[in-house]
Amino acid sequence: LVVLGIETSCDDTAAAVVRSNGEILSQVVSSQADLLAQYGGVAPKMAEEAHSQVIDQVVQEALDKANLTETDLSAVAVTIGPGLSLCLRVGVQKARQIAGCCNLPIVGVHHMEAHALVARLIERKLQFPFMALLISGGHNLLILARDLGQYIQLGTTIDDAIGEAYDKTAKWLGLDLRRSGGPAIEELAREGDAESVKFSVPMKQHKDCNFSYAGLKTQVRLAIESKKINAEIPISSASSQDRISRADIAASFQRVAVLHLEERCERAIEWALKIDPSIKYLVVSGGVASNQYVRSRLNQVVMKNDLQLVCPPPSLCTDNGVMIAWTGIEHFRVGRFDPPPPANEPEDTVLDLRPRWPLGEEHAEGRSDAR
Ligand code: ATP
Ligand code: FE
Repeated sequence: LVVLGIETSCDDTAAAVVRSNGEILSQVVSSQADLLAQYGGVAPKMAEEAHSQVIDQVVQEALDKANLTETDLSAVAVTIGPGLSLCLRVGVQKARQIAGCCNLPIVGVHHMEAHALVARLIERKLQFPFMALLISGGHNLLILARDLGQYIQLGTTIDDAIGEAYDKTAKWLGLDLRRSGGPAIEELAREGDAESVKFSVPMKQHKDCNFSYAGLKTQVRLAIESKKINAEIPISSASSQDRISRADIAASFQRVAVLHLEERCERAIEWALKIDPSIKYLVVSGGVASNQYVRSRLNQVVMKNDLQLVCPPPSLCTDNGVMIAWTGIEHFRVGRFDPPPPANEPEDTVLDLRPRWPLGEEHAEGRSDAR
């Protein structure tokens, strides 16, 4: 099987071609980083336009780099949710156009499932059941993946995701936003003292596996105000004392943001091993999983519990087409796909887009009785 994967759920336009033996034939990502830096966030209408402008080119480049044409494909996989519906539509229309022309089946993919399953492309020994912590710009999920398509949600965020907290902290600290906030904070944090600002760890009193980052964001904002840091002054022009203050806040924020992940993972692992002692892996994926500090701290947690950590390389942690193609392959293999759409489908066809689409069922027990 050779599958083309298309991803347009948020601010990256991505496409890739992957073979069912796990070989990545091509991978192309076009990011809207400049737009994001200019407007300080994703505006759906603008993001949609940006996707529309580059989608044909991104897909063509993915095919060219793979040395294939559309007729060589076995299927097209595309993200149908969760995400911004205007943006999802661009990818889905493109996927249907190709599939329609070449009479190819289509696999509609869940973006967060793809973040988790790409770990199986990286680590071929990774069998179900396994646990996954998915940490990105819009999600903070702890799941137990029992089988393909069978997920139990042990925890989610009650407000913001960790990636959002990284991005806001970066913005308030005057970091260069032409790249996303996460890597900028990670880098600055290396210069800082992580114990210098006393932020409190979220949800200490809640004995469940849920997350919260809104309160930490507020704590960070207050610390920034009290140190009189002016985000209008870019860090590159800050005095050395000012730079130290900013680095201290970045490091202290990161320590506590990640401690929250560590505590929740510990609890979830303890609970999950009780119901299924055969679990051997914790997958950590999503954009924030490209962070080295996050990886090393979670590796400690995992080793303590005799599990193994599987973290895809950074280019497969942030949004990419490979994870969509791979998840398409996984579903295609077990017969989960849609028949080819008609060639020249009318533009006003009602599409199956799922902007809000939970991954698996919630598990109340896992959230409240873990300890
Ligand atoms: P979602 O997957 O929830 O729909 P998304 O698709 O926008 O959100 P991803 O591309 O998966 O998100 O992840 C982007 C997020 O990851 C951003 O918030 C970004 O700051 C964060 N991120 C990327 N690299 C790092 C890093 N090295 N350290 C911390 N955070 C990072
Ligand atoms: Fe994502």
